[in-house]
Amino acid sequence: MKILISGAGTAGLTVAYWLKQYGFTPTIVESAPTLRTGGYKIDVRGEALQVLHRAGIYDAVVTASTDMQEALLVDKHGKVIHKMRGDAFGHRQGNDQEIMRGTLNQILLDQIPEIEIIFGDSIQSISQTNDAIEVEFQKNSPRTFDLLIGSDGLHSNVRRLVFGDEQKFSHELGIYLCVYSVPNYLNLDRTEINYTELGRTAGVWSSRSDKNAKAYFAFSSSTHIEPRDTVIQQQVVKNIFGTLGGEFPKLLNFMAETNDFYFDSASQIHMNSWSSNRVILLGDAAYCASPMSGQGTSLALVGAYILAGELALAKGNYQIAFNQFEKLMRPYITLNQELGMKAAKLFRSKEKSNPLSWLIEKLMNLLPGRLVEFFINRATKRINRAANSIVLKDYSLLLTHVCTKDPTKS
Ligand SMILES: Cc1cc2nc3c(=O)[nH]c(=O)nc-3n(C[C@H](O)[C@H](O)[C@H](O)COP(=O)(O)OP(=O)(O)OC[C@H]3O[C@@H](n4cnc5c(N)ncnc54)[C@H](O)[C@@H]3O)c2cc1C
Repeated sequence: MKILISGAGTAGLTVAYWLKQYGFTPTIVESAPTLRTGGYKIDVRGEALQVLHRAGIYDAVVTASTDMQEALLVDKHGKVIHKMRGDAFGHRQGNDQEIMRGTLNQILLDQIPEIEIIFGDSIQSISQTNDAIEVEFQKNSPRTFDLLIGSDGLHSNVRRLVFGDEQKFSHELGIYLCVYSVPNYLNLDRTEINYTELGRTAGVWSSRSDKNAKAYFAFSSSTHIEPRDTVIQQQVVKNIFGTLGGEFPKLLNFMAETNDFYFDSASQIHMNSWSSNRVILLGDAAYCASPMSGQGTSLALVGAYILAGELALAKGNYQIAFNQFEKLMRPYITLNQELGMKAAKLFRSKEKSNPLSWLIEKLMNLLPGRLVEFFINRATKRINRAANSIVLKDYSLLLTHVCTKDPTKS
């Protein structure tokens, strides 16, 4: 069975790996000219670690993990007011791992040298017949596949072409975030400096074997910011964080020179169904929980493992497999999306004038470091529960099965 995958992010690369293991023939199309390596450090938690183990890449991920040792919480003048262990600050428990998004994706790419990847192209049109999917690309010649997996991220192209405009499914949480590389002029060694108040957080960190450091800024906003205009985005970030002292003015000045500026709104994708006939969405494209959940990468890994496993279990009968995928994933996704909504609600609580938000703000002014630690620890318990709220099936007996034909065709 020939399966086209749109997007070479964590979801796309992982599903390609597993599909190949079960004898399917995956092809990936990625719009970027090479693997996109920008972005933040991301976490793999709970049951998602099993996906790494079963793919034989857990040790590689541990070796390449960020190994963050410490977080220094500072006040708005840059003075250190509190310290936390790196794992505690990042909500990690047990064997949870933190790694750069690009490093994880490079490890996944190295696992699939024999899979065809078309870089620098994108799907232009999709037409489904009873027997197949005809795909036209922007640059390459049209081709026919049995199935199409849309794992092309929050602003998915496949979702737009098959299910309709993004606005129908996207729920902005009213929070924007950006991250970009800066010189490690502070000589940070696996250390993070962070400033947090309700509605604003900013920081800088350098992880293991990173020559540079990364600056990040996140803020709540009740007005919509154009997702593709970098000039406006950078100006807004400067306006909002221009009042901070310490290292922050210098970090903001590096923003104009950086070549890996990432900016997006924290949004979730809510859909009643993730599939339409021979097309299915996966990862952020289907069920983005937003960076506020801290679970985007784990959801991509788990979803990719289950989708490929269910296709193998159903011997390529995609209708059965897609139904099973929804059934297994829905409760897990709902719980993890709730994490993002709760975190966003707390972050934006200053915008509401009620006794609770008043109290939180007062306490935040009195004991900023300790209160941040309290909220982080409370969220860690919730994240841990959600990250372990699914148990992965063992599909290993199917590894010898070779699925070359579409069983739904006569
Ligand atoms: C450059 C980048 C930086 C990121 N940085 C952060 C971050 O700092 N913090 C955070 O929490 N999350 C970040 N994310 C999101 C995070 O990677 C995902 O939440 C998570 O890993 C889920 O992965 P995914 O594979 O579903 O989606 P993604 O990681 O978004 O991967 C989607 C892939 O699809 C590709 N794509 C997009 N459009 C098309 C198209 N038309 N045709 C073909 N391919 C297409 C993209 O280039 C990308 O490679 C970032 C995503 C990207 C693309």
